[in-house]
Amino acid sequence: MSKKTDVCIVGAGPAGSTAAKFLVEKGFKVNLIDKEKFPRDKPCGGGLPYQILKRYPYIDNENFVDSYSYGGYAYSSSLNHKILVKDKEPILAMTLRKKFDKNLVDLAVEKGADFVDGKAVVNLEITNDKAMVFLNDGTSISCDIVIGADGVFSKIAEKTDLRKRGEEIAICIYNEYEVDEKTIDEIAGKEHFVSILSRFQSIYGYGWVFPKNKHLNIGIGEVGYRLKNRPKKNLIDLYKDFFSTLKKLKIIPEKLEINKYHGGSLPIVPLKQTYCNRTILIGDAAGFINPFSGEGIYYAMVSGEIASTVIEKASKSENFDANLLSLYQKLWMKDFGKDIYSFYNLAKNQRNKPNENIFKVASKDDVLSDLFLKIMIGRLPLRQYKWKVFRRYTIGYLKQAFRS
Ligand SMILES: Cc1cc2nc3c(=O)[nH]c(=O)nc-3n(C[C@H](O)[C@H](O)[C@H](O)COP(=O)(O)OP(=O)(O)OC[C@H]3O[C@@H](n4cnc5c(N)ncnc54)[C@H](O)[C@@H]3O)c2cc1C
Repeated sequence: MSKKTDVCIVGAGPAGSTAAKFLVEKGFKVNLIDKEKFPRDKPCGGGLPYQILKRYPYIDNENFVDSYSYGGYAYSSSLNHKILVKDKEPILAMTLRKKFDKNLVDLAVEKGADFVDGKAVVNLEITNDKAMVFLNDGTSISCDIVIGADGVFSKIAEKTDLRKRGEEIAICIYNEYEVDEKTIDEIAGKEHFVSILSRFQSIYGYGWVFPKNKHLNIGIGEVGYRLKNRPKKNLIDLYKDFFSTLKKLKIIPEKLEINKYHGGSLPIVPLKQTYCNRTILIGDAAGFINPFSGEGIYYAMVSGEIASTVIEKASKSENFDANLLSLYQKLWMKDFGKDIYSFYNLAKNQRNKPNENIFKVASKDDVLSDLFLKIMIGRLPLRQYKWKVFRRYTIGYLKQAFRS
């Protein structure tokens, strides 16, 4: 049995459902398919940089946001230095992914998208005049164009050869613990301060504690290939050490126990090419993640919106070939791509360097810590801030050197 539609979107995470919403609003017939039955959970910290709510105000309400955090502490690798960042406006909005993703899908469906859950896309065929996606129940859908929004291990990226083997990924262990509101207020304050343990035990990644209304999301992530080099100290051992360190630092309640280990993966760098004939990749499938913080929901939603603009253009000229779709790559690069690459270069450059000095200086310098805050939450693009940070750090470092 074969159906026909305009656009077939594979994957109903934030990327897919946002693309669906914008396409339906532009008048397209859209099929949104997900292999999981919804509502489904997704490995995630669930922290949204506040800029996302400014760009998509329709999600700034309790259907999507669980709570807000107005600041946080970032610890250096040795834990000897910590930077406090805080603001009057929230720096992060916290979500519970099960609810957030379901409500984004519902929004797309309300607008008119046709949603099929519990069915996986297993194959894809692109010809001159159409694209066909094949589902694991033996049915297929024919369409003008396919959007691959199917996450870090995207089937669409694999079938189109857009993802080659061996791309770098990060691997995380996390869990979301139910904790009563009073305890959360006691340990994270009314401002719901988050905690980041940067380069904990010299990993390239970091550990986090994200307080929500009735949950603590606690996780740690590391660049994938490094775990293979540390067989004795795998990620679960690291998580256990991280957990007991958090207790010693009184960041989490003494009585909290690890009750489950959830694993999750995320990309580190965008794919070289994110489109081909009759295909566009968005969100994690395209590798859109902030390589410094691991945050990807913002890029997932923005790339979904950009894809809808490009598809509208392609449809007007009835041309879905790679030449025309290359506009997609230009638009995301202009919007957020340059920042992702700036973060990637910064993260790579810092990997082998201890972060003690910069934390030591920033912990005593409000201007520098404020600059970090603004960069981390994406309030201003990193490329505009690089020079300012460097200058401020140099001034702070010299001041300290003269004082001591
Ligand atoms: C542990 C962890 C913590 C994170 N913390 C944060 C954070 O705090 N803030 C943040 O912004 N980002 C965070 N991220 C990243 C964030 O989760 C992703 O960037 C975001 O979910 C990407 O959205 P997406 O829609 O592209 O993909 P996903 O949310 O992964 O959705 C992909 C969907 O595709 C479906 N799918 C896959 N294959 C198929 C198939 N063959 N057929 C049909 N459907 C398919 C899946 O079921 C899934 O629903 C974290 C990631 C991890 C792993």
